[in-house]
Amino acid sequence: MQTKKKDIRALTKDQLRDFFVSQGDKAFRGNQVYEWLWGKAAYSFEEMTNISKETRQMLEDNFVINHIKVDQMQRSSDGTIKNAVRLHDDLIVESVLIPTDTRTTACVSSQVGCSLDCKFCATAKLKRMRNLNPDEIYDQVVAIDNESRLYFDRPLSNIVFMGMGEPLMNYNNVLAAIEKITSPEGLGMSPRRITVSTSGVPKMIKKMADTEVKFKLAVSLHSAIDEVRTSIMPFNATFPLADLREALQYWYSKTKSRITYEYVVWRGVNDKPKDAEALVQFCKFAPSKVNIIEYNPIGDEMFHQADSAALDMYREILERNGITVTVRRSRGKDIDAACGQLANKS
Ligand code: SAH
Repeated sequence: MQTKKKDIRALTKDQLRDFFVSQGDKAFRGNQVYEWLWGKAAYSFEEMTNISKETRQMLEDNFVINHIKVDQMQRSSDGTIKNAVRLHDDLIVESVLIPTDTRTTACVSSQVGCSLDCKFCATAKLKRMRNLNPDEIYDQVVAIDNESRLYFDRPLSNIVFMGMGEPLMNYNNVLAAIEKITSPEGLGMSPRRITVSTSGVPKMIKKMADTEVKFKLAVSLHSAIDEVRTSIMPFNATFPLADLREALQYWYSKTKSRITYEYVVWRGVNDKPKDAEALVQFCKFAPSKVNIIEYNPIGDEMFHQADSAALDMYREILERNGITVTVRRSRGKDIDAACGQLANKS
């Protein structure tokens, strides 16, 4: 039986150099191949034209390049693009390109399905199948960068880990992907243009702080009252708000980086002044920004967007307490590409 070939992109640069030395070649060959794999995002060994035919064949015999494939691309009337991405084992994830006048943001997935169980999120209805590998995350970014150049005539400018999955439950692979995205041999993007969004895994937030990462952190809070938060995000029972807050304080003390909170206001759930006041108490320990995002219905009757008076009340209370607030409209709703709508529907 033929043994399964290894994914060459699972190798670090040093491992690739060692591999060439073990084949009686020069370590430098490893650098060349690495540049093809990451800098040029090569799909095949064929393309590696500065490598001899024999060496390319030898690589072919030993390895595969498990590239993602954009199976389907949908364009929204507002310019948003959603990619359905097929992985080497035929599982599908989604990523989204969000254009504005000045930016192109890629919203990428970190897991197939999601480990968490937020009641208002379509992705939560999919079972978590597996974590994405660093190269599968990287490829989503490259695909969106290419689309941005093609359709908007400019490179990708920002990345948010707000697609499918909980990035901090695939911590090592997400960090490895960001390492590739930011390294000069990869895309050379500034980490300040990358935001990792989490539902709040305290231990991992502390670990990230200790690693002194340079990207930004966003927390999907939605309520600063334990009872309410647990009712809509049941894992809050395991990671209660006091632990989350302590981890965020630690994060801020280490990074001095402003924290963004994502927050949906639902009628009858968290639309009262006491909810806004609890939010102020929760986040005022550090410079914070609250993004109030519009609720995107996911086809059940449990949740309804709060009315504009409730949003004004939040804005007023937060601003009075020196907290920056933005109220954002969703993009890409007509193609199910908006926050919380990614569920491999088409
Ligand atoms: N698991 C991570 C990454 C997903 S980000 C996290 O929770 O942060 C997706 C964002 O969309 C989160 O802020 C999530 O709370 C929000 N969201 C989920 N379902 C939504 C919906 N139906 N409408 C609006 N926002 C939603």
